[in-house]
Amino acid sequence: MSASLFISDLHLSDATPQIEQGLYRFLEENGDVNRLFLLGDIFEAWIGDDDDSALAQRFADVMKKLANRGTAIYFMRGNRDFLVGETYLKQFGAELLGDTARVSVAGAPALLMHGDLLCTDDVDYMSFRALAHNPDWQAEMLAKPLAERRELAKHLRAMSKEASSNKAEDIMDVNQDTVDNTMKEHQVSRLIHGHTHRPRRHAMQDAERVVLGDWTTTGWYLLERDETLELVEFEL
Ligand code: MN
Repeated sequence: MSASLFISDLHLSDATPQIEQGLYRFLEENGDVNRLFLLGDIFEAWIGDDDDSALAQRFADVMKKLANRGTAIYFMRGNRDFLVGETYLKQFGAELLGDTARVSVAGAPALLMHGDLLCTDDVDYMSFRALAHNPDWQAEMLAKPLAERRELAKHLRAMSKEASSNKAEDIMDVNQDTVDNTMKEHQVSRLIHGHTHRPRRHAMQDAERVVLGDWTTTGWYLLERDETLELVEFEL
């Protein structure tokens, strides 16, 4: 019997202790799985692996416990925690995934993404993304003192569509052509992503797009058990 969990968009920060606690409780009760996929925006912000925040440490400790119980952990970066690096993930033995990952899910190849790359109508964001994913920009960013990075992160967050950009109506939805082309390119009949905060299983012709939910007063997960898949919302 094999089981996998897929979660994304928890947006953990010091301002969300109830979501963090809810996650740890959830994993305590349901974390006995073969694979755990963390598909981006697990953290609301990330200024570098050298930021030894209490939150980052608590999260790593919980993940370490899971890993020790035999769960393989995979981490994909989102648009908010795009600076998470190998140094942090090594603490709990997680494997860093690229922007796309083709894995077997419920007996068929599926493509995993965070989802921001599918929102190609958001031209402003796409150009910011190109900048923020430039290795020179990242190196320059990570070379700044922590205090300065904290200020910059605050500033960036304020800039990116006021303070409320964690609401679905502020996030553009996916572009259907981009979805179709991406699935064709990777030759999959199932796409699993988060980011848009519009959790749903979309049936397509002989295919499916599963959108994970963001965690607020409720949490969301996708559970694979052998050949079955279930998208679940639960009270935190
Ligand atoms: Mn996102």
